[in-house]
Amino acid sequence: MQTRKILLEEDEMPRKWYNILADIKMNPPVGLDGKPINPEDLAPVFPMNLIEQEVSTERWIDIPEPVLDVLHIWRPAPLVRAISLEKALDTPAKIYFKNESLSPPGSHKANTAIPQAYYNKEFGIKRITTETGAGQWGSALSFACSQFGLECKVFMVKISFEQKPYRKSMMAAWGGNCIPSPSMETKAGREALEKNPDAPGSLGIAISEAIEAAVTDETGKTRYALGSVLNHVMLHQTIIGLEAKKQFEKIGEYPDVIIGCAGGGSNFAGLALPFVLDKLNGKKIDIYPVEPLGCPTLTKAPFVYDYGDTAAYTPLLPMHSLGHDFMPPPFHAGGLRYHGMAPIVSQLVAEGIFEPKAVSQLAAYDAGVMAARSEGIIPAPETNHALAAVIDEAKKAKEEGREKVIVFTWSGHGLLDLTAYDKYFANQLKSFALSEEEMLKSEKVFENYPKPQLLKSH
Ligand SMILES: *Cc1c(COP(=O)(O)O)cnc(C)c1O
Repeated sequence: MQTRKILLEEDEMPRKWYNILADIKMNPPVGLDGKPINPEDLAPVFPMNLIEQEVSTERWIDIPEPVLDVLHIWRPAPLVRAISLEKALDTPAKIYFKNESLSPPGSHKANTAIPQAYYNKEFGIKRITTETGAGQWGSALSFACSQFGLECKVFMVKISFEQKPYRKSMMAAWGGNCIPSPSMETKAGREALEKNPDAPGSLGIAISEAIEAAVTDETGKTRYALGSVLNHVMLHQTIIGLEAKKQFEKIGEYPDVIIGCAGGGSNFAGLALPFVLDKLNGKKIDIYPVEPLGCPTLTKAPFVYDYGDTAAYTPLLPMHSLGHDFMPPPFHAGGLRYHGMAPIVSQLVAEGIFEPKAVSQLAAYDAGVMAARSEGIIPAPETNHALAAVIDEAKKAKEEGREKVIVFTWSGHGLLDLTAYDKYFANQLKSFALSEEEMLKSEKVFENYPKPQLLKSH
């Protein structure tokens, strides 16, 4: 009998996060004048303990005991050998995945929601605001807030709010309050509605609303939380890769290929970053972030300074970006519709350490259905993008007759995304790709912004 799951005991779970900022150079966030912003400028938005983490260059950061306690609800996450998928593909490749669908809200996002709620609580914050696209981050943060006794207010992109009523129910079950964005509650929302009363909403607008709601709260006890993109989020997600490293050590293997779908970049980076240092030191590993052709941030968009949100409330971040007012076409992977990408991931792509891939919506669902019918877990639409690249690699390994070790993040389950599967089975899913014209339009946005540098970390 072949072993399917490589498990760790609770006391084998990593007790520190890995901070890549100790080992690579990064462009700082700046203002329009090109001058680095002062971390204190972020104090109305985030609690100071998280801001310190955002800019820290300490290589290892202790995971606080109360955070470890809550993570133990579902972690350590198994490293699973996808034996049945390998069989279905008749590949000599060994395919492994970290099963991040096992958290209570059903995705990797709980890995950062828990520490973010904890640090806010420690800092004396009573209420957290956030945005959510498909609803995964809103549910993860509602869950985390319920663990630490905080209020949670979620601005959910309107089109998803209407299409996915059960995400809102999940948030309500954990005590979270979810409203559709654009809303009348903020200036950013009212402006968007004035322009278009039927606006379907976007992540960029919802982020602006959530930041505004936090900084305008007169009690001073509200802060904002972001589920991806920022350095501290990447840090918290490294628990995925650190566990995977230990699990591979147990079985005497090491990955040749590392894959993750990339929306803001966090589940991908969480798996990949603990292996990056080995690559910088000469180890041969192929590392692929995978994005949708309909929102091709890493494969098509330039490495620039851009705002993280539509209303330009955030500092300028060094990232691959399609432009902060970019509206992606209506494909079904809410978590992959962000206009930008984590600065850490963007920097490592610009420097050639990560090699991004883009896949079509149809290829992603083909892969997802194959995975569901072999491994049994119905993947999130976002995970399907990673799976499409994994299957390509496994086929390549077969052509080359190589026993490659492939590992990827199974970032979440798709049990609340079944409408999209229904559409796929009814042949109603389309593939979207961006035209050159649309790309050029978005590039204009950056003309007058400062430009980030390549810093050669290696
Ligand atoms: C949010 C989400 C993503 C995309 O976000 P990243 O920060 O790129 O990881 C991917 N998969 C699932 C299941 C998600 O919920």
